[in-house]
Amino acid sequence: MSVSIKTAHEIELMREAGHLLEKVHDGLIPYIKPGVSTKEIDRIGEEMIRSMGCIPNFLNYGGFPGSFCISLNDEVVHGIPSEDKIIQDGDLVKIDAGLIYKGYHSDAARTYAVGEVSNDARKLMDVTRECFFEGIKFAKAGNHLNDISAAIGNYAAKHRYGVVRDLVGHGIGTHLHEDPQIPNFPQRRRGVRLIPGMTLAIEPMINMGRADVEWLDDNWTVVTMDGSLSAHYENTILITDGEPEILTLTK
Ligand code: MG
Repeated sequence: MSVSIKTAHEIELMREAGHLLEKVHDGLIPYIKPGVSTKEIDRIGEEMIRSMGCIPNFLNYGGFPGSFCISLNDEVVHGIPSEDKIIQDGDLVKIDAGLIYKGYHSDAARTYAVGEVSNDARKLMDVTRECFFEGIKFAKAGNHLNDISAAIGNYAAKHRYGVVRDLVGHGIGTHLHEDPQIPNFPQRRRGVRLIPGMTLAIEPMINMGRADVEWLDDNWTVVTMDGSLSAHYENTILITDGEPEILTLTK
């Protein structure tokens, strides 16, 4: 699949898909608290998405049994919503969400601290978010994909964190996952040249300990191999003639 360049009309739809997803994320914040199950959050979020006339794009994607990926603490991504997973004080909760608006996908992830968390956990969250913003400084027409990847990876490395290598960001549009793949660490190749109209989901996944991850027996949940905490931050962005536009974050 080659990298798709969106038309002005498609960009308008992608923008709306992004803005609606931002609303979903914001709407879930009050529910991310002790005593609430991850299934409950999934249910509330799915209802929000459907009430907007949109479709949750993660549901049944490759057989995924939820509308949201909700991952706790040492779970990196792809946590399956469950009645048995109850949010506790001190948890790091990662909510990864996506929706389809008029055939166009958006994808964004946030990490939340519930109640009191350690300064180290707080710093991991902050640096992961900063990694995204370091990366998109280079998300400009004429640059190459690796400029983004290298900026993310180098910033995380400066803080001595492990950058997950087994999972990467991606192009996005009429499909949830389009070309190109966007690693969060420096590559030997420059990668594709960035062109206005490209829409990309950039999503650093950063571990407090080592980079290595493994899959649980449910075949979905990715956890850190050393049990260390992990954080995730993602937005869908648009490459323009100037600064990138963050479609899933307007404020
Ligand atoms: Mg994604």
